[in-house]
Amino acid sequence: MGTVEGEGAKRAEDACPEERLIRKMFSSYYRSAHFEAPQIEKREFGFGGWEKKIEFRHIKAKSEAELRGRLVSEAPLYVSYSVAYYEFPDARPMVRKNWLSADLVFDLDAPQHTCGKFTCAECFEKVRQEAIRLIEDFLVPDFGFSRGEISVNFSGSRGYHLHIRSQSIQRLDREARREIADYICGVGVSFERFFWTEGKKLFGPTPSDGGYGGKFARAFMERLGDDEFCLSISRRLKSREEKDRLASSIMQGNWDSIGIAARERKLREKFEQMRLGMAGKIDANVTADISKLIRMPGSLHGGSGFAAVPVRSLEGFEPMRHAAVFLDGELRVKVAERVPALEVAGVRFGPLEQGECATLPMACAMYLLCKKAAVVA
Ligand SMILES: [Zn+2]
Repeated sequence: MGTVEGEGAKRAEDACPEERLIRKMFSSYYRSAHFEAPQIEKREFGFGGWEKKIEFRHIKAKSEAELRGRLVSEAPLYVSYSVAYYEFPDARPMVRKNWLSADLVFDLDAPQHTCGKFTCAECFEKVRQEAIRLIEDFLVPDFGFSRGEISVNFSGSRGYHLHIRSQSIQRLDREARREIADYICGVGVSFERFFWTEGKKLFGPTPSDGGYGGKFARAFMERLGDDEFCLSISRRLKSREEKDRLASSIMQGNWDSIGIAARERKLREKFEQMRLGMAGKIDANVTADISKLIRMPGSLHGGSGFAAVPVRSLEGFEPMRHAAVFLDGELRVKVAERVPALEVAGVRFGPLEQGECATLPMACAMYLLCKKAAVVA
């Protein structure tokens, strides 16, 4: 904890005007901010600055008041807390902290896209849909978590963090958490595990099955409404009657009541194309890391100026609108690189060319300053 003492003054001297302004704004936010850090005294905290998201770690806070005091006085640009609970959160090396248990977390990020650092609405929408899929297709049906025990949090940047704090998962070790992530990513899931032949018949999963078999059967049944999909399986599926016949036999687990040519190859292709798992969507390393430092719910993200807000419902959640916090005042900025047309906190602005000056509502200006895409004019 001694690492941070005395650093504040030095930092303030070295800081550029943008960093000073951002820290001043962050400090005032933390005076009254609502943040979520259950069992605060058992967590390790990490603070980040202009250059690094975690500059200082092994920080302990005995109470919410103590943490708030530090956030107000030091105004870190990033605040992370450990998913783990420790007996001695500030001890080092790690082993001396005495790990007690840890929340189970999932990290979802928007896909890489041409929008780059100015994450577009389309990318935000994609990652929102993936977060819903993770909950509704995996965590609830396959793992039996209730929706109420899954806390969804905007990451402050490009995605979502899901935190599960239930007793049932607290003591899981790395390997068990890795196994959970691997299952969700679909590691080792293959067509052959779900289909088998008996005589001339091909048997497989039914839509009411759990796990990947059921996921495939349900997705397949849904696609039977799509003519192009049907024709890629068999020309016979042009006929409504044959389609109904296949659908009702799949309900019984019989996958070929109509004589599909090269049926195994075709079904295996569909199985693989449907990408039922979430590989590339969740970061399995985050889930498996039992001492991970992750953005503290309710804290500010120094790369966007947004709050990592708890998301009560993913329905209709728009980060650029609902996570913006600096809603008062305006600021004149000079743009350091081309900025596309954007909408922050319901205000549309841009595009702005490099070198252009503009007076913007504070939330928009803070967004550009935090992105290092503008300077104070
Ligand atoms: Zn995009």
